[in-house]
Amino acid sequence: MDDLFDDLKNIVSERYLSDDIYIRHAYSRVVDPVLQGVPEIVIRPKTSKEVSEILKLANQKNTSILPRGGGCGEFGGAKPIKDEGIVLDLKRMDEILQLDQENLIVTVEAGVSWAKLNDYLSNYGLYTGCLGPGSGMTASVGGGVSHHSVGGGGCAKYGACTRHVVGLEVVLPTGEIVETASKTNKYTKFPFNRFGNGPDITGLFCGDNGILGVKTKISLKVYPKPQYAAYKTFLMPRKSMQLSSDIFLEMRKRGLDVYDSMYIMDLLVAVGCEYGLFPMWEGLKRKRGIMFYTIEATTEKELEKKGNQLDQLFIEKKATELGAEIEDGNIAKWHYKEQGHWLIAHNLWGLIPGFSPLDAECHTSISSYPSIMKDLETWDMEHLEDMNKVLELTGMRPISGTGPIILIGDNNVELTTGFTSFESYYEGRYHEELRELNIKLWKSMLERITKHGVSWYMMGDILSRLLVDIGAFEPQYFSFLKLIKNTLDPKHILSRGKFNFW
Ligand SMILES: Cc1cc2nc3c(=O)[nH]c(=O)nc-3n(C[C@H](O)[C@H](O)[C@H](O)COP(=O)(O)OP(=O)(O)OC[C@H]3O[C@@H](n4cnc5c(N)ncnc54)[C@H](O)[C@@H]3O)c2cc1C
Repeated sequence: MDDLFDDLKNIVSERYLSDDIYIRHAYSRVVDPVLQGVPEIVIRPKTSKEVSEILKLANQKNTSILPRGGGCGEFGGAKPIKDEGIVLDLKRMDEILQLDQENLIVTVEAGVSWAKLNDYLSNYGLYTGCLGPGSGMTASVGGGVSHHSVGGGGCAKYGACTRHVVGLEVVLPTGEIVETASKTNKYTKFPFNRFGNGPDITGLFCGDNGILGVKTKISLKVYPKPQYAAYKTFLMPRKSMQLSSDIFLEMRKRGLDVYDSMYIMDLLVAVGCEYGLFPMWEGLKRKRGIMFYTIEATTEKELEKKGNQLDQLFIEKKATELGAEIEDGNIAKWHYKEQGHWLIAHNLWGLIPGFSPLDAECHTSISSYPSIMKDLETWDMEHLEDMNKVLELTGMRPISGTGPIILIGDNNVELTTGFTSFESYYEGRYHEELRELNIKLWKSMLERITKHGVSWYMMGDILSRLLVDIGAFEPQYFSFLKLIKNTLDPKHILSRGKFNFW
C-alpha cells in the first residue's frame, strides 16, 4: 500500500491524498447507517487527467476505486464494501465550465452541487429544470446523473435529471477519457445534442451507479425560469392514500401543467406535528394527509388558468385549501419560495437523535403505490416480533411508512418509503443485536417492495447486491449487463462488488 500511496503522490498533491485513519473512517460512511468497509486511501483529484491516471494506476495495482460525489446516497454506493480500495472524492471538481446562453446548455464538472449550479444559473434567469435531488445542497451533479435522480423542484414537469443530459465526458475504468453524444463528431465545438452519431452511449452511463465509468464533465439543458408562480396546499379527506393517487392520475389525464406536486400521508402529518416538525400544521384540528401543487407560467393569465384547473380537481376530490401563507399551512409556498425542495426528505429522519432511515426509495407508476403501501402495513404486522425486539432494546418501535410521495416524469411517482429505527450505537453502547435486526428488517422490506415490480434508481452496493441475491434481475438482462461490465472493466476496478461484480 505504501508503494501505491507514493505513486498516487505523483498524480495528485499530497494535500489531497490521505491514508489517515480518521479520514478513512469518515469516508466509510454515507447516509445509510450500515458500516461496511473502510477504504485504504482517499484521494481528491482536480482534473480528468488526474482521474485517468489514478484509474490506470489502479488497474496496474489491481486496486478498487470508488467514485464519490456528495456521499448522500442511501444504499451505500460511495463507500467500500470491504476494508480496501481508494475512495475517489470528486467534490474538488466543481467548476461551472461553460454556459451556452444561446443554445441553453451548461457544462459542469461532475462534483459541482445542484445548489451551486442553480445559484449560478439564477444570475441569467435560468435553471436546470429538475433541480436535482432533495439532497441537492450537497449532492453532486455526477451523483445525480449516476442515480437518475429526480426530486427537489420541478420533478413533475421536468422528470429525472438524466433526461436533460446532452453529453458527458467519462473516464473509463481502464483510464481512457471519452466524450459522448454531439462531441463524438470531432468538428463539434460545444455539446448540443445527445442523440446522433450512433447509439445513445451517454445513456449507458446515466443511472449506472458508478460501475461503468467516472463522469468528469456533464452537459445539461437549462431552461428560462418562468416569471410567474403559484403554490397551494390542501388538507385531504380521511384515508387519503388512494385519493392522492387518483389526483396525480387526473393531473396527467387532464394534461395539467404542474411543476411539483406532493402527497404527505396522514401518519407523517400526525407524528410530524407531535414532534414539532410541521409548525405550520400544528393548529389543524384534524391531522390528515396533505397534498400540494406548485405551478409556473410566463404570463399572469396563463398562471390563473393553470391554477383554476388544478383547484377544480382538488375541490372535486373534496380536499380543503389551506391559507396562502406558510404559517397558514401552505407548505407549497415554503417548498417553492424558501427552497424547501432541498430541505424536505423523509420527514421522520432525525426526529430523535440516532433515529435513522433504512430507506426504500424507488420509482413506481402512479396507480401502483396505494397497494404497495397497503402491503407494507401487512409487512409491518408480519414483523411484529422483530419490531418489538427493537422496542425492548431502545424504548421505541421502528416506524414504517412513506415520506412525501412526489409526482415525477413519465406518470410515475417517487416513493420515499422505508422505516426509521435506532442505529446500533445507542445510549453509549454498541448493540450488535440491534444492527442485525435492522438489517434483517431492511432487506426483507426491500425484497417485498421489489416484488411489486418497482424501479430502483439509487442502488448503491447494498440494494444492487440484494437484487442479485434474491434473483430479481431478468437473467438475460443481467448477463448483458455483466458482459458490458467485463468489457469496460475487465479487472472490476470500478465500484468493485456492486451488483456482485467482484
Ligand atoms: C436528505 C436527502 C434527500 C434525498 N432526496 C433525493 C431525491 O429527492 N431524489 C433522489 O434521486 N435522491 C435523493 N436522495 C439520495 C441521493 O442524495 C441522491 O440520489 C444524489 O443524487 C446522490 O448524489 P451524491 O453526489 O451525493 O452521490 P454519492 O452518494 O456520492 O454517489 C452516488 C453513486 O454514484 C456514484 N458516483 C458519484 N459521482 C460519480 C461520478 N462522477 N461518476 C461516476 N459515479 C459517480 C457513486 O459511486 C455512488 O454509487 C436524497 C438523499 C438525502 C440524504
